Amino acid sequence: MLLEKIDNFDIFRPKMDSSKEVLHAIATFQADISPSFPYVNAELGGWDYDQTNQVLLLKLSNGKWITLHPQKIAIRGAKDIEECHALLEWIKGQINDIYGRRDQIAPRYMSQAGLKVIEILKLTPMSNCKLCGYATCMAYAAALREGEISLNDCPPLAEERYREKREKLQAYLETFGWRTLDAE
Ligand code: SF4
Repeated sequence: MLLEKIDNFDIFRPKMDSSKEVLHAIATFQADISPSFPYVNAELGGWDYDQTNQVLLLKLSNGKWITLHPQKIAIRGAKDIEECHALLEWIKGQINDIYGRRDQIAPRYMSQAGLKVIEILKLTPMSNCKLCGYATCMAYAAALREGEISLNDCPPLAEERYREKREKLQAYLETFGWRTLDAE
């Protein structure tokens, strides 16, 4: 098991905006979890992976983030103390499980941060029909890059005439490990 023992777990309200009803937390430990990063990035779809400094950023739904450092895990945006503990247990379990299966996983070094809105836009129907709830395909493309919505939120993409675009868009997103991520 790569990460067995957490030495310290600080939970706090962000100092910059104490009015925010969210909590941040930092767990520290002796183990070096960085060998798991290329595999965690491959399995969970890291938002950004800085290999030089060994930092892997995971973006979850509802504005939550988990940042992995070699000997530290930072959690941002949890709604309460229970969720801080649940998120820590979740990511700890993911790290250990994924690292234990690393022989079966192709490591990934690219991350979602490399996705370009303009490239996503080119693969949308570009009709600005607003069926997705956004005013333009550009706004949809930007939200898709952020992992806030999915391909299914653009109904025209499901039409046969846009099948080639949808398949190309899916492949483009997958190249960068794109996905929406929930801690479940
Ligand atoms: S539903 Fe699709 S085609 Fe229509 S505006 Fe949204 S992204 Fe563009």
